[in-house]
Amino acid sequence: MHYLFGVDYYPEHWPKERWATDAKMMREMGVTIVRMAEFSWSKWEPREGEFHFEDLDEVIEILEREGIDCILGTPTAAPPKWMIDRNPEIQPMDAEGRRYFFGGRHHDCQSNPVYREHIRRFVTAFARHYAQNPHVVGWQVDNELGNSHGNLCYCPSCEKRFRQWLKQKYQTIEWLNQCWGTAFWSQGYTSFDQITAPKMTTSGHNPSQQLDWKRFCSDLVLEFHQFQADILRQAAPGKFITHNLMGFSDKLDYHRLGEQLDFASHDQYPGGHFHARHDVYRADFHAAELDLVRSVKKKPFWIMEQQSGITGWEILGRTPRPGQLGLWAMQCVAHGADTILFFRWRSCLMGTEQYWHGILPHNGEPGRYYREIKAFMDQAGPWMEEMQGAMPPKEAAILFSYEQDYAFAIQPHHPDLRYTQHLMTYYGALHRKHIPTDFVRENDDWSGYKVLIAPLQFLMTPELSAKLHAYVAGGGRLVLDFRCGVKDAHNLAISTDTLPCLVHDLCGIRVTEYDCLRDAVGEVVWNGEAYESYLWNDIIELDTATMLAAYGKEFYQGSPAITYNAYGQGKTYYVGTQMSPALADRMIEEVTAGIAPLADTPWGVEVTQREKNGKRYLFVLNHTGTEQPISLPASWQPMDGKDVSALPPYAAKVYRRA
Ligand SMILES: [Zn+2]
Repeated sequence: MHYLFGVDYYPEHWPKERWATDAKMMREMGVTIVRMAEFSWSKWEPREGEFHFEDLDEVIEILEREGIDCILGTPTAAPPKWMIDRNPEIQPMDAEGRRYFFGGRHHDCQSNPVYREHIRRFVTAFARHYAQNPHVVGWQVDNELGNSHGNLCYCPSCEKRFRQWLKQKYQTIEWLNQCWGTAFWSQGYTSFDQITAPKMTTSGHNPSQQLDWKRFCSDLVLEFHQFQADILRQAAPGKFITHNLMGFSDKLDYHRLGEQLDFASHDQYPGGHFHARHDVYRADFHAAELDLVRSVKKKPFWIMEQQSGITGWEILGRTPRPGQLGLWAMQCVAHGADTILFFRWRSCLMGTEQYWHGILPHNGEPGRYYREIKAFMDQAGPWMEEMQGAMPPKEAAILFSYEQDYAFAIQPHHPDLRYTQHLMTYYGALHRKHIPTDFVRENDDWSGYKVLIAPLQFLMTPELSAKLHAYVAGGGRLVLDFRCGVKDAHNLAISTDTLPCLVHDLCGIRVTEYDCLRDAVGEVVWNGEAYESYLWNDIIELDTATMLAAYGKEFYQGSPAITYNAYGQGKTYYVGTQMSPALADRMIEEVTAGIAPLADTPWGVEVTQREKNGKRYLFVLNHTGTEQPISLPASWQPMDGKDVSALPPYAAKVYRRA
């Protein structure tokens, strides 16, 4: 059983008389699956224990008559008012101790035991009711998990769970004191009962405690998902469970969430309402998010929400340019999406998301968005059918670590240093060079990758160090950069080695000093060419390494900025600064020598590849607003049978080669 296209549908927003019309229009468009129900708890259980699934039954039947199956979401991101009134303690609390009240969404504490019992009652009844319905094919737990926890919730229930989590991790309070470095500022504890969540203080909080808090929050949300997934699997076996991820959102560890899912899904809004300009070229960032989601299960994924029109809540984004909706959907296919559901079927007349536009406008009459999405579905459908399961070739990988991300969120060093943005320095250069890139985690097998880029390896453990050594010794090309090997797993500075600690022999260098470029732009000189660099400069002495580029400014002018070191069968590169795009391009050219780019195209034209059973598919995507020339070897056959020498603005072309 597989599906190509679907929509997110909210029948509770529309009169019953419209449901059959909607279902018929969906079928005519090519829709075979819908997601429903993830925000309508008050409808299905208007009073405690009183379940009313009649309307949902009716919609499912109407859809079924048009050959459409459905995924149901558990509605736990929006507990109903009667529940909040009875148990106000399930409303989340922020770091200042303020409760968040009813009227929005995600107004739930995910640890609260009373809320868990409400969930157990509802989800069990929901799952049992649809267990035997063959047209309910899968579940989504909650919605965009992690949207709340992290900034929320600091309530007494979460604090209690945090203490239990710490007790299990550290066993004794003496060991916790040592690992958190509580000798500083008189923070020593004599009992686990004294420990609180890192709430508002007069100064910065203990970085070790903050790191554990972030780990705990991720674990708690994972456990919240597992709690519901267990009920669903037991009460309604044989249906898939997926979740709608949000790209680089970091509140919970998606790699570990993936272990609970049959496949990963993702919500993709390239023109998201927070972007003020439609022409901002962010195709590389959206590509990276798709590659990250594919990496969660290392297989093709679903788009659970794909942008269908202009987005917005109180403030609106720009309208998608003609062609962009189809281009954005094709970009998802290009990176491994096998199924796409468009959000939403029709722009709703009510509530916070009135301007988060759907395929149909408010009046329900098909317009440009409908025509463009239908055209995409008609064209891409047969190709997607053929390439189900196809994956990109393995060439380069970027090590993505939620732990390193958390550590830099706590101590960014430079006010402008962000983990994901820094990773994009490398991803962007790989993207511009059309080199397929996966994201891998620490405990993955890296051996299939020719190049592994591991930025900001701030927290260094003996295990990670051993794995990095083995990768290079076996012939891998590894890139490490600044702030590598500074801390141990407890977020305490390592004192037993020279920076980059535990890997300085692998890099063949010693970092003797560093310079945070607070108000300055750095300069790096490579073969006489000067490039900008940003945020940070490591001051490097060579042991066995060779200098590739030197700093062009400051008292350490002429000293190494970028180095490489032969180790075993491979090489380790070290970058002491954050590179400008031009410098990153130069660097990636060096590191990926011998890996053939998929194609050569003008700026703004993305190229990706998927492979299956010896067949290869090449996607060429013009993200620019102007026509761009393309020229590919004749062995690439256009899948639409039409040879072209140029791509119109916001257009995509797909090729096949046996
Ligand atoms: Zn809480």
